[in-house]
Amino acid sequence: MNSAKNAPNPAKLTPNMGLKHRNTFGLDAVAELAYEITSAEQLPDLLKGLADQNQAWRPLGGGSNVILPNQLPGATLLINIPGQEIAQSDEQNTWVSVGAGVNWHEFVAWTLEQNLPGLENLALIPGTVGAAPIQNIGAYGVEIGQYIDHIEAFDAVSHDFVTLSQAACQFAYRDSYFKRHPKRYIVTKVVFKIPKPWKPRLQYADLANQFNDPDQPPSAKDIFTAVCQIRSQKLPDPKVIGNAGSFFQNPIVSNEQYETLFKQFPRLVSYPDAPGMRKLAAGWLIDQCGFKGQRMGSVGVYEKQALVLVNHGGANSEDILNLAKIIQEKVQKNFQVQLDIEPNIF
Ligand SMILES: Cc1cc2nc3c(=O)[nH]c(=O)nc-3n(C[C@H](O)[C@H](O)[C@H](O)COP(=O)(O)OP(=O)(O)OC[C@H]3O[C@@H](n4cnc5c(N)ncnc54)[C@H](O)[C@@H]3O)c2cc1C
Repeated sequence: MNSAKNAPNPAKLTPNMGLKHRNTFGLDAVAELAYEITSAEQLPDLLKGLADQNQAWRPLGGGSNVILPNQLPGATLLINIPGQEIAQSDEQNTWVSVGAGVNWHEFVAWTLEQNLPGLENLALIPGTVGAAPIQNIGAYGVEIGQYIDHIEAFDAVSHDFVTLSQAACQFAYRDSYFKRHPKRYIVTKVVFKIPKPWKPRLQYADLANQFNDPDQPPSAKDIFTAVCQIRSQKLPDPKVIGNAGSFFQNPIVSNEQYETLFKQFPRLVSYPDAPGMRKLAAGWLIDQCGFKGQRMGSVGVYEKQALVLVNHGGANSEDILNLAKIIQEKVQKNFQVQLDIEPNIF
């Protein structure tokens, strides 16, 4: 548990702040009150004040997994808490403590510079360290939850700092305890536990194809570089074309439903999941409905990856959600499968 020993500088307040450059969809949203949070100690007084005034609030990291409305009423807390250090090390593990505002990709690169391999499959995911546990970010066969030792957060219900163990975070596919309790916790610090024994994780076809010589296994840095290259080729760069990465979660269905679908669609792309369940590739389902590369006004479906919705310029949240609804309805009609939206709708 933390406690504020010295009075911290209050969070800097900017009224009516444009957030176009703080959300990767590039939506022209305006935050009524934007507070820049640079230290955990700023939170108790600020949250108390907001509660006293009955103000709405929400944390915002890099804005790479959100759909923002034109106007964000109340307080938007821009989480910019810095700092990263090796906190502890023994023969088996290294513990690394990181501020919630640190850029995720830069942190992954830093771990490799420190000779701490493990997170390389998660390179180039946009956003902050503090948001990474919220949806338990994952890519190329690795999810971050497995590397988290504990999380420090401010609990807006008890109005105190709390520490949540990995088990308490209840990590699951694109899900966590935090995601199920929105607007309650503000993650201030994440402590990672990185095991020292390391082996490459190459089960995803893109990586397996690139590193297929068993006599020359890749280093973590080789994998980091490969992941960056593959992602840059497949996903649109938000600086060039607005998007929030995968727009829908891969739906998880029972083996029974999968078998029925597979009989009808033998090219159905799927992956094993929990016992008795199968994960379907949402991108394949959307592609089969003919949406890839389609455009509806200022929004569209990315031409190289049907799972990504894009802002061609000037779109708002309504435009995006309208297109999402059309896609959901068609996939439901053709495959009897429900697609859930991945980004957080503010
Ligand atoms: C091109 C692209 C590729 C992507 N690829 C992947 C991928 O491979 N795998 C994957 O899992 N995701 C992916 N994403 C989604 C996104 O990068 C991650 O979800 C990322 O962790 C979001 O971080 P952020 O800081 O931008 O969060 P934001 O978008 O700012 O916020 C996301 C949610 O977390 C909450 N939040 C933010 N910070 C905090 C905090 N400190 N405390 C409590 N709540 C907080 C927000 O309120 C919001 O509900 C991709 C996105 C893009 C644009």
